[in-house]
Amino acid sequence: MNRASPVLLGGVEAGGTKFVCVAGTSIDDVRAEARIATTTPAETLGAVVRFFGDASRAHGPLAAIGVGSFGPIDLHPSSPTFGVITTTPKAGWAGTDLVGTLGRALGVPVGIDTDVNAAALGELRHGAARGLDTVVYLTVGTGIGGGGLVNGRLLHGLVHPEMGHLRVPHDRAADPFPGVCPFHGNCLEGLASGPAMAARWGAPAETLDAGHPAWALEARYLALALQNIVCTLSPERIVLGGGVMAQPALLPRVRAELAALLNGYIQAPAVLERMDHYVVAPALGSRAGVAGALVLAAQRAGIDRAAEIAPRSASSTSSAK
Ligand code: ADP
Ligand code: ZN
Repeated sequence: MNRASPVLLGGVEAGGTKFVCVAGTSIDDVRAEARIATTTPAETLGAVVRFFGDASRAHGPLAAIGVGSFGPIDLHPSSPTFGVITTTPKAGWAGTDLVGTLGRALGVPVGIDTDVNAAALGELRHGAARGLDTVVYLTVGTGIGGGGLVNGRLLHGLVHPEMGHLRVPHDRAADPFPGVCPFHGNCLEGLASGPAMAARWGAPAETLDAGHPAWALEARYLALALQNIVCTLSPERIVLGGGVMAQPALLPRVRAELAALLNGYIQAPAVLERMDHYVVAPALGSRAGVAGALVLAAQRAGIDRAAEIAPRSASSTSSAK
């Protein structure tokens, strides 16, 4: 089901610091790749268009391009602003029409989703969540964002999930830091993003050693958010990515905190007995986003065979609800 299609596809992971572009038939068969700095929309998207122009001259025509992007993005296909980055605080990028710009310049259909939905899709098809159909991918980096699939379908709804802005209990006596989110102050991103850690402790997260009290607090906030996610979406697995998770002591602490918080309430072997397989690092590492972007491209081109298989058949469901 994950067999590479012979059709050439484009994938873009559009991030706040760089755009990673690949051309290939799937993440296992990448024929060309580029990293482009995120500067102005005109300059960055101009370089993206040149990359795909060169790639298709060298390797053949592209059937479609998939984009996993920072946001917020308008994902409603019938909206006049479909594929446009809406209210981002990133200077110069609000109102940028990703889908229209790339589609017009390259003459190919363009599929788009959030960076974290794309990463969840990549991990589901090719990585740590293979064989599952309900998964959440949470990135803990400059910001915190979450995406995922439920019953094999990417989460959209009203706009798209904004799990980084979950409210978590904030004990101001234990942690007087007010939080850095410009919208909410002490939401999850406000309390637990990389910049929040740097502001609270006066040093970047990568300089805080494993024994620093920062990590117990960080694990606590992430586990509180994960309990909310477990209780809301009932994911079969949670993938934690992003730069802050590069601290090796953090993931085991998050698992232990989550198990303690759930307190045996969720009667599933995955959380009762196999927490180390339940909350995991991305198997694709930093490739999850582009892997998912290539799947989005295949879906947009109408050649994604696996999409026809989801959602799973009733016989594989175990819930008695
Ligand atoms: P972005 O979110 O911009 O895509 P990253 O996911 O790489 O970027 O996250 C960047 C954040 O990760 C920064 O706040 C940085 O301090 C933090 N970070 C980077 N490396 C480490 C590390 N080894 N340990 C802990 N935090 C780290
Ligand atoms: Zn917020």
